[in-house]
Amino acid sequence: MVRNAYGTTSLSRCPFCQKTALVKNKLGLNVCKDHTNAEIPDLKCICKESMELKEGKFGPFCICRRCGIMNLKKALEVNKINMTQPVTSKEEIQSTTSKKEIIVDEKNAHLFGV
Ligand SMILES: [Zn+2]
Ligand SMILES: [Zn+2]
Repeated sequence: MVRNAYGTTSLSRCPFCQKTALVKNKLGLNVCKDHTNAEIPDLKCICKESMELKEGKFGPFCICRRCGIMNLKKALEVNKINMTQPVTSKEEIQSTTSKKEIIVDEKNAHLFGV
């Protein structure tokens, strides 16, 4: 790996999670291995025009026919797409549910047959 004077590398970053991009997905974007199969829905510009997704020298970007270039991160924000959210695992769901306490007091005791 060649490091330049500023300590930065020319490595691509996954546009979804900013991790090092190691693979190309089917859209031709450089992504991390977690996002190899990530689907990008149709992106709309702030002006409501649909945008075209492109892969450029400095990473992915979108083009609106009216407004021009917008970076993918911004485009995802505008479209309220949050791809960086980890997929909630079953374990996490269970632990949240088990935390919920049901308090039986005289007000709701009849519901529990107490
Ligand atoms: Zn990623
Ligand atoms: Zn636009």
